[in-house]
Amino acid sequence: LGSEVSVDAELEIDEDEEDNLLGGLQIETTADIEVPDRLVDQVIGQDEARDIIIKAAKQRRHVMMIGSPGTGKSMLAKAMSQLLPQEDLQDILVYHNPDDGNEPKVRTVPAGKGEQIIDAHKEEARKRKQMRSILMWVIIAIAVVYAFIQEMLLLGVIAAVVIWLFFRYTSRGMDAMVPNMIVNNGEQRVAPFEDATGAHAGALLGDVRHDPFQSGGMETPSHDRVEPGSIHKANKGVLFVDEMNTLDIRTQQKLMTAIQEGEFSITGQSERSSGAMVQTEPVPTDFIMIAAGNLDAMENMHPALRSRIKGYGYEVYMDDTIEDTPEMRRKYVRFIAQEVERDGRLPHFDRAAIEELMLEARRRAGRKDHLTLLFRNLGGLVRVAGDIARAEDREYTTREDVLQAKKRSRSIEQQLADDYIDRRKDYELQVNEGGVEGRVNGLAVMGEDSGIMLPVMAEVTPAQGPGRVIATGQLKEMAQESVQNVSAIIKKFSGEELTTNVPGWDEGRYEDSEYPQSSLAGKDVHIQFVQAGQQGVDGDSASITVATAVISALEDVPVDQSVAMTGSLSVRGDVLPVGGVTHKIEAAAKTGCKTVIIPKANEQDVMIEDEYEEMVDIVPVSNISEVLDVALMGEPEKDSLLDRLKTITNATLDQGVTG
Ligand code: ADP
Repeated sequence: LGSEVSVDAELEIDEDEEDNLLGGLQIETTADIEVPDRLVDQVIGQDEARDIIIKAAKQRRHVMMIGSPGTGKSMLAKAMSQLLPQEDLQDILVYHNPDDGNEPKVRTVPAGKGEQIIDAHKEEARKRKQMRSILMWVIIAIAVVYAFIQEMLLLGVIAAVVIWLFFRYTSRGMDAMVPNMIVNNGEQRVAPFEDATGAHAGALLGDVRHDPFQSGGMETPSHDRVEPGSIHKANKGVLFVDEMNTLDIRTQQKLMTAIQEGEFSITGQSERSSGAMVQTEPVPTDFIMIAAGNLDAMENMHPALRSRIKGYGYEVYMDDTIEDTPEMRRKYVRFIAQEVERDGRLPHFDRAAIEELMLEARRRAGRKDHLTLLFRNLGGLVRVAGDIARAEDREYTTREDVLQAKKRSRSIEQQLADDYIDRRKDYELQVNEGGVEGRVNGLAVMGEDSGIMLPVMAEVTPAQGPGRVIATGQLKEMAQESVQNVSAIIKKFSGEELTTNVPGWDEGRYEDSEYPQSSLAGKDVHIQFVQAGQQGVDGDSASITVATAVISALEDVPVDQSVAMTGSLSVRGDVLPVGGVTHKIEAAAKTGCKTVIIPKANEQDVMIEDEYEEMVDIVPVSNISEVLDVALMGEPEKDSLLDRLKTITNATLDQGVTG
């Protein structure tokens, strides 16, 4: 059970080339890769989840899998069904109950037997019908002949019709003899796998159809209206439910009963239907439950159900990334082969196409020396690329096709961001050359995977009353800390204190003693995002941008507009790491910037595409003074400013924020 099938089994690996993108595999295309038969051997990464599935299959335990979509949860659940013994499979039959038509009987027989029973019953019913039919015609003949002899032919014909109607009417009951096979495993080669994600109560728990003719000989016998639910179809197999929390609580409760009892009667789910009067004898529900979802799903799950799974099974967390090793890269090559073969119509990938996909797997991991495990999306890319190659009638999918596919399969956020960049170009909101005081090209992330350039403007005006930092636009909802830290630096820098109108300051969320009182030499500092729009912007990563804009405005030193930046700022002036640097750099490049400042700590996360590499210079920094050194223009002012700043950030800032 579950022996590791290695990709390398028959394939040649060049040890010296192990470090290349194919992990040293000596192949021409993915067609040279053999895909393992069993699903469990096709699963890449997720070693822990895989082990648990194998173990749980042996011990018949329930499993809860928590993790991101597309990491292989349903794949593993299906893989488990292939590991379960096929000998145990059963057919389930529902019989008419002559004592109580509303409580059909339920019988379970070994798989394959059900078909025979049904056939036997049908055969018997057919014979009986035939007998009845012969009997009927004999009686009719006798009646007609007798009437003929008595010279009352008309009466004879009437009698014949009445007899015919009588037989016809009573023959309806004959169907009741044939049982209804609700679960048929006769043809089933592996244990059943039932995906009940998002199922409504009837589909999950079974149902009894409504009968519009509830009596009078026209009715369908109740046992024939019984329909199985996923819990019954999954008997002796696997029941998979993703997004567990979307099942309503009552349904979850019933699901738990089914798990506990190992059987569950079927009744009509809709209260006003005649089906609701029917309730079968208990139907077996001996399945292994695999509940899946994200962390949220787990928290909103019925607590009793959760503890049931926990107490009698395993819980496992799915990984999002995996370490990038030669062996893992070889498995990713196999992944491409798997997806190509699963689809059945795609051309296999050539070496350059494989390499491009591998780079994409690295890029999407967003983590140094790791590969993404979000395989559904990666598989989508494989399919789009393959489709493009197929449309072009190519024998193999090429690197060009993969690049094309990447453009086409952009996420909604990426499409929005690109559209946004285009539109802003039209309005000349984008400035990427020359120097402007108080204006800095910041960078932000939209959604998960698309960067956007977001300029910040700062302006210094004479204050009415005490000077303040006035933050508007998106800054209002975010970046409390970043503005605070910026204020701290500016305060130390200019020797003055500031107040801010960051939300919370005025709302009594801070102690009076914390409320900054004095002024920046009678000046207001306005900070604003240029047309941030409605996008969700990650605030903290803008704090070096804000700081640079303010300092530039205060000191009347222009900022180089060909520079874009991202980074978070500590009160001491250190530049701290932020998320999404790769996407941000790409956005800066797309908008025409020449230099991108990023936190030194993020240097290892940079995985930009080749085409952008030549377009921008990436400058990793660890202190705000380095940021200003790169971003500010005008030598004499800048130099004296930098000298001052260096002394501040190295020494005086240590003395605290609120001062
Ligand atoms: P989930 O249930 O976690 O949302 P799925 O199991 O439905 O994800 O994955 C979707 C598809 O992505 C699978 O059918 C398979 O082709 C591919 N896939 C996902 N995870 C893996 C994995 N760990 N190894 C190989 N292929 C995977």
